[in-house]
Amino acid sequence: MSLPARVPAKAVTRKAAVRLACFVTFAVLTCGAFPSSAPAQGDITDSDLDGASRGRSVRVGSVATGQVTTIPLELYVARVLAGEGEPKSSDIAQQVLAVAIRTYSLANTSRHHRDGYDLCDSTHCQVLRQANAMTRRSSLATAGQLLTFEGEPAELFYSASCGGQSEIASEVWPGVSHPYLRSAPDDVHESDVPWDVELSLREVHRALEQAGFKGERLSGVEVESYNASGRVSTLRVAGLQPDVVSGQQFRMALGANRLRSTAFVLKNMGASLRFTGRGYGHGVGLCVIGAGRRAARGENAEAILAHYYPGLKLTRLD
Ligand SMILES: [Zn+2]
Ligand SMILES: [Zn+2]
Repeated sequence: MSLPARVPAKAVTRKAAVRLACFVTFAVLTCGAFPSSAPAQGDITDSDLDGASRGRSVRVGSVATGQVTTIPLELYVARVLAGEGEPKSSDIAQQVLAVAIRTYSLANTSRHHRDGYDLCDSTHCQVLRQANAMTRRSSLATAGQLLTFEGEPAELFYSASCGGQSEIASEVWPGVSHPYLRSAPDDVHESDVPWDVELSLREVHRALEQAGFKGERLSGVEVESYNASGRVSTLRVAGLQPDVVSGQQFRMALGANRLRSTAFVLKNMGASLRFTGRGYGHGVGLCVIGAGRRAARGENAEAILAHYYPGLKLTRLD
């Protein structure tokens, strides 16, 4: 069973034209922002990244312990790159993600203001791991570089894989709307193998109960509607109250790692449900897998950023 049609052909054509125009603007504005030579080789130390941070730091709160650690900005970028990046991808792909991570950090400094720090260390914000030689190198090579919108660090998002069509931000976060976070095709996913997961009606029922749904028996689940990007917008959950759930809520209730995205089709198998889908994550903004493939086919960092964030300006702090 194929996924439903996404965007009408006319809309795609118009969007493609807009994207091309944005790309031209972007390329002119950002010419030469990335280093033309290879990034520095050899061991990059914490102190190198501290120096490159020019006094800027991020207060990171641990979700597990509540402990707050202040980390120099460029070391933070190197550590998030280790947590969120694709370890096998090239320097160019790592540098692209480093810019997105830095931009996210600078645009979200008040996200955990009430908790007494800037960003948490979970998927709610950005996940950190120990920095390695590659992530340190990519952070240093792009030190201070960020994407701006109307002169401010851009509110942006990225996810592991869009699966072939990115998602418009407002479908995931109602009220979040930016011209550079639209739904667009990503033509580097042709060889993706769809993921597949089978869950019993009983465990789906249990998960929905924990999410606040009432009812003695879940008698069936059906996709009620798909949105323009081909992702599940709503599902009907027969026997429960309420009997309609959004694709987002359904995925979160079942576990974002089990149901990798909302770009799935659903087959009823009697006592179980079989989900077959594409992509991993919400699909908004930069696609980490896609960035790696674009770099592998020869696109440079500016072109990759312009594809995923059309119209943003690549600039430097200070
Ligand atoms: Zn957070
Ligand atoms: Zn993609």
